[in-house]
Amino acid sequence: MDPTLDLDAIRTIVVRNGVIAALRDDAPVAADPEVERVDCAGMVLCPGFIDPHVHLREPGDAHKETLASGLAAAAAGGFTAVAAMPNTRPAIDDAASIRRIARDAAAAGRVRTYVIGAVTRGRDGTTIAELRSMASAGAVAFSDDGSSTASLKALYNAALSIADLPQPFLSHCEDRSFGDGLMHDGAVADLLGVTASPSIAETAIAARDALVARATGKAWHLCHVSAAETIDVIRWAQGHGVRLTAEVTPHHLLCTDQALLGYDARMRVNPPLRSESDAAAMRRAVADGIITIFASDHAPHTTEEKEPPLSHACAGFSGLETAIGATFHALPDVALAVMVANFSTNVAALLGVAGGTLKVGSPADITGLYLDRPWTVEPHRFKSLGRVTPFAGMKFAVQPALAVVGGEIVV
Ligand SMILES: [Zn+2]
Repeated sequence: MDPTLDLDAIRTIVVRNGVIAALRDDAPVAADPEVERVDCAGMVLCPGFIDPHVHLREPGDAHKETLASGLAAAAAGGFTAVAAMPNTRPAIDDAASIRRIARDAAAAGRVRTYVIGAVTRGRDGTTIAELRSMASAGAVAFSDDGSSTASLKALYNAALSIADLPQPFLSHCEDRSFGDGLMHDGAVADLLGVTASPSIAETAIAARDALVARATGKAWHLCHVSAAETIDVIRWAQGHGVRLTAEVTPHHLLCTDQALLGYDARMRVNPPLRSESDAAAMRRAVADGIITIFASDHAPHTTEEKEPPLSHACAGFSGLETAIGATFHALPDVALAVMVANFSTNVAALLGVAGGTLKVGSPADITGLYLDRPWTVEPHRFKSLGRVTPFAGMKFAVQPALAVVGGEIVV
């Protein structure tokens, strides 16, 4: 299945020297013992899935995740590449850090790791980092993820300063004046009496950043969209020729603030789980082609760090190993070609990286899926060090079965 080739057919993928050498409609005769054959009967083979939003926690928080455990989780989850967010400790905000993470990740695992640089130094929200030298060092995008870039002036000037470069900006949309919110401001928060953050905390920054994208002409991307009103902003921007894309996570497609009724600290994420109508709006936005990218927002923490009370629990959870199953589960009516594009082709286009296609000559990065092999989420089996997930015990039909990176079978 390859949306870039308009291909949905039975083929033999021939790989040579890490590159896709041919797509044959017959199986090659098994004569050459030098040729390794992999039987993928029953699987759908797709261009390798790329997760544009993961937190690998190194440097600074190796007790939550290491590059090795995070990349093992990515491969187990069916991903052949990930993009690492820079909100580590210290933040990835200079060329040397970009090079170091890329080098350490290449040593730690086979899954390709792209590195995102911080927009501002130390993610302080005001002092523009050395974007151009980070871009030269290989940064694929820029983001202060974990929070919004606080200063509009800094964000605008940062975008203008590299208007000639292809690297997009990725926005975590959350007005910091609502930073103390533990959950979505709705009926459930009222019932629980918990400090909450309303949708406008996201939508207002999404609108601000869409205006920066329009004013500067930069390619822009909104991370983990969660509020129905934000879809209106995206629709407006896309309708006015702004180069703006958006991603959604499995949990914002599938879960709502109802999950927090028992003060369940596992369910604390940022942005928060919102109402059923918000989740429905996310699913519709995918179906309508307004949201064109899936992201796990893999954010591992130790089990202790995810324990109650809600006010002390860290936001986020390990998502790489459930992302494919949960996302397909949330969107049973979206065409397979669209699902594959959102997991692969569109992510490669966003980050300007190779892959996202099975075209002859491209890197042999391949994800294999069983579309109907029900499995139960068992967090104790995770490769990720983070074992907390709101999906524990859930059953998903779509199962990642194969991850091939540069022609090598990783899982
Ligand atoms: Zn974020």
